[in-house]
Amino acid sequence: MAVKSFKKDTLSQIEKAVKLTGAEEIFKILQEPQRAIELALPLRRDNGKLEIIKAWRVQYNNFRGPYKGGIRFHPQTTREEVEALALLMTLKCALVNLPLGGGKGGVVVDPRELSEAELERLSRAYSRALSDVIGSAKDVPAPDVNTNAKIMDWMADEINEPAAFTGKSLDKGGSEGRQEATGLGGFFVLQIILEKLGLKTPLTVAVQGFGNVGFHIAELLAKAGFKIVAVSDSRGGVYVEQGIDVLKTMECKREKGTLAGCYCVGSVCDMNFGKTISNSELLELPVDILVPAALEEVITEDNADKIRAKLVLEMANGPTTPAADGILSQKGITVIPDILANSGGVTVSAFEWEQNLKNEHWSLEKVNQGLKEKMESSAEAVWTEAQSRKTDLRTAAFIVAINNLYEN
Ligand code: NAD
Repeated sequence: MAVKSFKKDTLSQIEKAVKLTGAEEIFKILQEPQRAIELALPLRRDNGKLEIIKAWRVQYNNFRGPYKGGIRFHPQTTREEVEALALLMTLKCALVNLPLGGGKGGVVVDPRELSEAELERLSRAYSRALSDVIGSAKDVPAPDVNTNAKIMDWMADEINEPAAFTGKSLDKGGSEGRQEATGLGGFFVLQIILEKLGLKTPLTVAVQGFGNVGFHIAELLAKAGFKIVAVSDSRGGVYVEQGIDVLKTMECKREKGTLAGCYCVGSVCDMNFGKTISNSELLELPVDILVPAALEEVITEDNADKIRAKLVLEMANGPTTPAADGILSQKGITVIPDILANSGGVTVSAFEWEQNLKNEHWSLEKVNQGLKEKMESSAEAVWTEAQSRKTDLRTAAFIVAINNLYEN
């Protein structure tokens, strides 16, 4: 978490695309955010004590429209991390052709240590402190790690503008399908790339991170006939050779508060089915598809050589370092990059924003059909660019994104 070199690494991955396109001016512009706001938020704890919580909102680039990007609550988040994530958002929105720019927010806090009332006070304080610079025509935040619909509802309510936030609950102007959008978007992209590579189910999958994104992608893949053999959260994971029951495993984790011992096959969770594994062991499993869906820079030069998957679907932002990218490529492992794989979240966020602005409420079918079209056309564009330039999918995705940023 909050790896010091995250922004530098992200820029060096973008530079590879810049060299192929000659887009030096855009690269110059992308070196720094247009604006980075640092906040010191007073939080009154339930015991009466006052704490000052550090937070940021980084508004990286608005060439295509209002800044857009999630807010992360994490004790180790840093300004550098938020900047790198805002930079990725800029390119992600450009890649999928959304009329939005890139931003990101971070609050240095472990929400598990706060009561619900404290969490609400902090969320409202963050939104209030930014009331001059966020809004449906300026900057539209959304959920990210450790934030959810309830937090978005509080933040939108605080500045009295529902269209200023996405990822809200349905009764507060949220969109159908937003919760599972990132996972579903990744699923659509994966189908296209598997078809191009000629890989067919049954395929085995390991998923690191069992939160919003990791759970939904695991569930969708399991339903489509993939065998999910391992999942993990921050405390470690489970491995079940015959394939886990994703829903039952989530139920078990909710009941026990941890994944350990949740070896669920069919409707039964039994100690005899599987074993506990660490997060690093999960990454090195001999599976067909590895899905990092937790945090950045987990595949590095230290472990890339041990990755045995045929394909990496990057559902987390920035999970692979540039050095690891090179090693994976030498090993012939295909990496579907984050800005393509996880762009379903911001796509449905954009739909939610549009619905709020037009005072509409779209059906789940309409949302998912729109998502499918966006994901499939973006995946096709990236694949075609990679083929014509004889380059990897990440570089191709950055090329498409930079071209779209330029055109605007
Ligand atoms: P979340 O908070 O719902 O889940 C995060 C999961 O990662 C949890 O299961 C947590 O236990 C696990 N985790 C935390 N630290 C870990 C570690 N060191 N090792 C292994 N697992 C760890 O967050 P989320 O919304 O699912 O986001 C996950 C990733 O997807 C992040 O990189 C986020 O930026 C990215 N993302 C999210 C969305 C979205 O719509 N939520 C959209 C695009 C990208």
